[in-house]
Amino acid sequence: MTIKAVRGVHDILPDASSTWQRLEATARRVFEAYGYREIRLPIFERTELFARGIGEVTDIVQKEMYTFDDRTGESLTLRPEATASLLRAYIEHGLYVQPKPVRLYTMGPMFRYERPQAGRYRQFHQLNVEALGEDHAGVDAEVLAMLVELFRALGLADRLELQLNTLGDAACRPRYRERLVEYLRRHAASLCEECRDRTERNPLRVLDCKKSQCASVLEGAPSLLASLCRECDEHFARVRAHLEAMTLAFVVNPRLVRGFDYYVRTTFELTTRELGAQNAVAGGGRYDGLVELLGGPPDAGIGFAIGMERVVLLLAADASTDARPLALLIPLGAEAFARLLPVAQAVRARGVAVDLAYGERKLRSELERANKLGAAYAVIVGETELARGEATVREMKSGEQRAVPLSELASELGVLGGRA
Ligand code: AMP
Repeated sequence: MTIKAVRGVHDILPDASSTWQRLEATARRVFEAYGYREIRLPIFERTELFARGIGEVTDIVQKEMYTFDDRTGESLTLRPEATASLLRAYIEHGLYVQPKPVRLYTMGPMFRYERPQAGRYRQFHQLNVEALGEDHAGVDAEVLAMLVELFRALGLADRLELQLNTLGDAACRPRYRERLVEYLRRHAASLCEECRDRTERNPLRVLDCKKSQCASVLEGAPSLLASLCRECDEHFARVRAHLEAMTLAFVVNPRLVRGFDYYVRTTFELTTRELGAQNAVAGGGRYDGLVELLGGPPDAGIGFAIGMERVVLLLAADASTDARPLALLIPLGAEAFARLLPVAQAVRARGVAVDLAYGERKLRSELERANKLGAAYAVIVGETELARGEATVREMKSGEQRAVPLSELASELGVLGGRA
């Protein structure tokens, strides 16, 4: 029996890597232009960090974490998201003494025990961005602009919609929550089972239910936007005005709530119509108060997470460039191999990809291999060439051949590979 990968976990194969690398490189370039610096975080943490940082009553903490005891009996969890770890590091290393906002990004795998389906995995990857220690609405607008800029740079901006909402804060949300619970209880009979359960545990999440049965109840539900306190209302108005000043398109979706307890005020998602039910490509929001909850100073915070698999799915239609070698070096025999070995090394040291055959097969089968590899040139060295101190450089497409002195071969291939 062969051993297969675990359900919901996938390999990123070589044909897909160039798309992943393009996404990572573009993200680094865009984030760094906005002043963000990379932080690399561990993949597992103490379980209580997530219980406290994400919220005990969330689906993630209650049902989706990969939690295990290590050999000393300490409870550890594979991270289901990055914000809690990032804030732990921010507090632990005193990064809050730096000029605010402290701008950080990170990328890597996350783990959630969810039901796998297209676009949803148990190990998946996120790009995470956090701006800490500043509650000005200008930070919200800047973070959103950067998110949109990344997708513009990837050529995907037209295929995505930015949805924006505000969740109020500790001053106005509890009052709203009470009114909502009262309304949902009155209509409990018309709600789906999950929403009846959520009414008591996590009522705001009911607003997010996609079932048509609940949608009709929700049409008449009290509106959070109408219940905001003055400060939250003004903050939201300023964020929208800043976005408009940058001509950034968005839609206000008053039913947008997210799976974490910690969000206040600005929340957002970037959605697509192209990935079926898994339509969220990125999501985030403001979480003032969370740093303090985790034992740090009373610093504000805002951030987002991008689901990298979903971005790669959107990019997949693009033809990605694969890594073809410039040339296949074909020695005929052991002596020719020994002569070409240092040439291959010198060309590779210039950053030009070449492949070297081992000298044991017939010229014809090596030329076929050069074709399969997509090499632009074959460089042949047999007995005749060795005797003359030359190599035959054959252009694969035209079949044209010319002789190049072996002593000049490395620099000639460097020139052909654009690295003179
Ligand atoms: P969240 O951390 O839940 O706010 O998710 C942020 C983004 O990560 C989502 O918008 C998705 O693009 C992506 N994501 C979340 N869960 C999964 C999953 N199980 N598989 C793949 N992508 C996911």
